[in-house]
Amino acid sequence: MRSGKQQDDEGLLSATGDARAVPLFRLVASFMVVVMLTFVTVEGWRIWRDYRHALLNAQDAVSNLARATAQHADDAIRQVDAITAALAERVEGDGLAHLDRKRLHRLLHQQAEIMPQLHGLFIYDAQGYWLVTDKTSVPPNANNADRDYFVFHRTHPSREVHIGSVIKSRSTNDLIIPISRRLDYPDGSFAGVLLGTIKVDWFVRYYGDFKIDQRGALVLAKRDGTILVRRPFSEKVLGRSLAQSDIFLNHLPYADQGVAEAKAVVDGTQRIYGYRALSTYPLVAEAGLSRDSVIEPWRHDMIKSVLVLLLLLIGLSAFAWIVLRQLRERIAIERALLQAHQTLRALALTDSLTGLGNRRRLDKVMESELGRARRQDYPVAVVMLDLDYFKRYNDRYGHPAGDQCLQRVGEVLQAAIKRPGDLAVRYGGEEFTLLLPDTTAEGASTLVQEILHTLRRLAIEHGASPLGIVSISAGIAVGQPAHLSLTAATLMAAADAALYQAKAQGRDRSCLTLEVAEGEA
Ligand code: GH3
Ligand code: MG
Ligand code: MG
Repeated sequence: MRSGKQQDDEGLLSATGDARAVPLFRLVASFMVVVMLTFVTVEGWRIWRDYRHALLNAQDAVSNLARATAQHADDAIRQVDAITAALAERVEGDGLAHLDRKRLHRLLHQQAEIMPQLHGLFIYDAQGYWLVTDKTSVPPNANNADRDYFVFHRTHPSREVHIGSVIKSRSTNDLIIPISRRLDYPDGSFAGVLLGTIKVDWFVRYYGDFKIDQRGALVLAKRDGTILVRRPFSEKVLGRSLAQSDIFLNHLPYADQGVAEAKAVVDGTQRIYGYRALSTYPLVAEAGLSRDSVIEPWRHDMIKSVLVLLLLLIGLSAFAWIVLRQLRERIAIERALLQAHQTLRALALTDSLTGLGNRRRLDKVMESELGRARRQDYPVAVVMLDLDYFKRYNDRYGHPAGDQCLQRVGEVLQAAIKRPGDLAVRYGGEEFTLLLPDTTAEGASTLVQEILHTLRRLAIEHGASPLGIVSISAGIAVGQPAHLSLTAATLMAAADAALYQAKAQGRDRSCLTLEVAEGEA
């Protein structure tokens, strides 16, 4: 029983040796992959989040900028609007024919001083001649009948304030935005134009104060798209139209204010724009930050993060590689040790001369076989064999020849046993033992007769034997462990006794010990 358990342990050991190593290797490799994937995912998510933040912050910034510039434009124009309204009322009330030009001039001059955005205040008659201005000197014969705003009021009866496109002042050469009203005679006919002009420079300086990136843009345009002011400032863009821009085409018609990403019509720069249409005047303010400069800090950070992540991944991979290699080596060593252990065990149970099992092997197997035979109730046969006159053989042919002879006999025995459970061992010297589980006396006898017969047929010369050839004697013992208190020792002793009998009866034969077989009856 003891040896049976040991055998089971051995089987378990060899099975778990391999089965445990592979999952461990896979487990470590998977863990490394999971760790790396986690790093990549977390860092990727962080980079994506920062990208979104950069864009959202930019959207907030342009939205605020658009609001500030729209408010600024509204304030500047509203003041001029108010003063022109008051002046129109007064001029029309006094009647254009009875203007006190001196007093009016003083008044206009005073108002112009108060309002820093104001470039000038002008009153023209129905033919476009200058009646009064805030300026001290008036160009001789100056006539503004050709100006767009003048033509507009002459041809439109509307009393509303009119905001014109940027023009160059005839009195000062400044770039100005005309804010004008129509003057009527009491009968409603055209009496002239009242004009307030705002310096473009007023806006340019205000827009210049904002801290925005080099490629950022601030624009004030008329609702029809005509640019009034723009930062970065250039005289050439004034009067250009934004009507075909993305914001004027696709956003303003649907919302008075908002945020949009678009490519600028003026300079082709991709920008994030905030836009806002003024509520009281047909004007639009736009503030744009270039996408590149918005993304730049993020891109910088992202490249750094990716580099660090790459280094980390390389480090982790190297670490994983080393760990896995060592693990693999250890597994290989463990396997080799296990194999060596198994080989040693096998060697310890093998007879070196014949390659058969040895006595230790028989002792081990005998115990487990008797246990199994007892449980499953079948007979076990043990055969003891001893070469005849072998001392003489050695004496005649020498010890090496004797060893060779033992090897041949070993081969004969190994060839004779046919079932997987059968075992042939060299018990010691020139004695052999066969263990034949689940074998009756009859079956064992037949097998032994085959062995004797084979040896006879081989006819190994033995000049010192009366038979002339090498022969063997055998003692057979058969027992039914389930019915008898049968031990390995009693079974062996019985076989030995039968062998003694065979020797005594003249050798080259077998005998069956009947006591054991009969005992079961
Ligand atoms: P019997 O027929 O009665 O068995 O006569 P026997 O000469 O064989 O007597 P015994 O069995 O007592 O002889 C054992 C001899 O076997 C002793 C030794 O010369 C020989 N022998 C034992 N072991 C070895 C071995 O390993 N190699 C060789 N060559 N001979 C051995
Ligand atoms: Mg002997
Ligand atoms: Mg002998």
